[in-house]
Amino acid sequence: MTRNHTRSAELAARAAGLTPGGVHSNVRLAGPRVFFERGEGAWLWDVDGNDYVDYLLGQGPNFLGHAPRAVNDAVAAAMRRGSVFGAQHALENDASELFLQAVGWADRVRFGVSGTESVQLALRLARAATGRRRFVRFAGHYHGWLDNVLVRTVDETTTPASAGQLDQFDQFHVLPYNDLAAVETLLAEHADDLAAILLEPVMCNSGVVPPRDGYLRGLRDLCDRHSVVLIFDEVITGFRIAPGGAADRYGVAPDLATYGKAMAGGWPVAAVAGRAELMDPIGTGEVNHSGTFNASVPACAAVAATLRQLRDDPPYDRLETHGGKLVDGLRELGTRHDVPLRAQGLPMAFHMSFGDPSPIHDLGQLDRLDLERYARFAHVLVDYGVWVAPRGIWYISAAHGEKELVAVLERVDAALAAGG
Ligand code: PLP
Repeated sequence: MTRNHTRSAELAARAAGLTPGGVHSNVRLAGPRVFFERGEGAWLWDVDGNDYVDYLLGQGPNFLGHAPRAVNDAVAAAMRRGSVFGAQHALENDASELFLQAVGWADRVRFGVSGTESVQLALRLARAATGRRRFVRFAGHYHGWLDNVLVRTVDETTTPASAGQLDQFDQFHVLPYNDLAAVETLLAEHADDLAAILLEPVMCNSGVVPPRDGYLRGLRDLCDRHSVVLIFDEVITGFRIAPGGAADRYGVAPDLATYGKAMAGGWPVAAVAGRAELMDPIGTGEVNHSGTFNASVPACAAVAATLRQLRDDPPYDRLETHGGKLVDGLRELGTRHDVPLRAQGLPMAFHMSFGDPSPIHDLGQLDRLDLERYARFAHVLVDYGVWVAPRGIWYISAAHGEKELVAVLERVDAALAAGG
């Protein structure tokens, strides 16, 4: 099947002379140069009129589907009264209360704009509270694109991931994920200079790897023993894998957590939440956290409308069912076409690739997978009307139902039948 992409190609050629690589985020460099006209629910339409069932969801934010009515109506109504005041407005409180209710364990929240900056605030708060400088992080975890967190780990060697990046590697230790003994050993020696342990509680950015049984609890205990701040980066997992994210799903409360993506129905909002004693130094001015667009009127309207909808009509059981059937269906297609299509993760976010079907527990095991073949397959799927990330992560939204399940399986089937 070949779809017509003439208009996208024209726009891509124009964009190439306007912005580097023709894209405005480097995460999109690996993606096809399709230009979209609109999205609705679980579907996208490109400028050439092709439809796509969408399992990328803008890299996660469209957790309620594209253009969710309740969120858009709330944002539009709020914006008629203005956007930023350099002061407070009542919707901030609605958004904060709904947020803290959903998260459950946290006393305070601060809104921002991106996950990247939220991680920086969490690290700063941990340093302020402990008077220590370094932190522990894990190979394969992504915490934004700034100098002190952006790394590339190959064969257990960690290097900067960008030209021009300041070498701030003395700020952190990199350990393998899901290996509690490694953390225990490091803390025994270096806890005196450790402010925090920072992790994706589910390693979503490399293979969607869930924590082993007892791993998060073990980290919690080690942090308590050594007075180290435990930071969950819930930018992907927050509100997605349970109302209160990974902390809720696995029953382990961190001291601080960062959020973004799913919390605002597609609107750019992020947050840091935490225990009062860690967060309140921002309120005295001792710790600086600023931002012109923080907690803007539309952002707070979007957060409040999204979290109200998640509270009043929780989609989690439906997502679990949809994801379970989808993963089963995709595995079945792999068997039928005799290709090693594999899936792992949680139904609300899972990872597809080709390779050995046994579960992956840390970054080192990812080399069992043929990620390049999968990236090529993701490009092929564009011509069959399936929009997914070349790096393998699939996201499900509250708008995905039976119709989408049938469509995506038919389309992947057709792509595999054609030798995709
Ligand atoms: N943390 C995690 C776990 C992420 O997945 C991301 C982005 O994908 C970030 C932080 C950075 O968030 P943003 O892209 O909003 O800056």
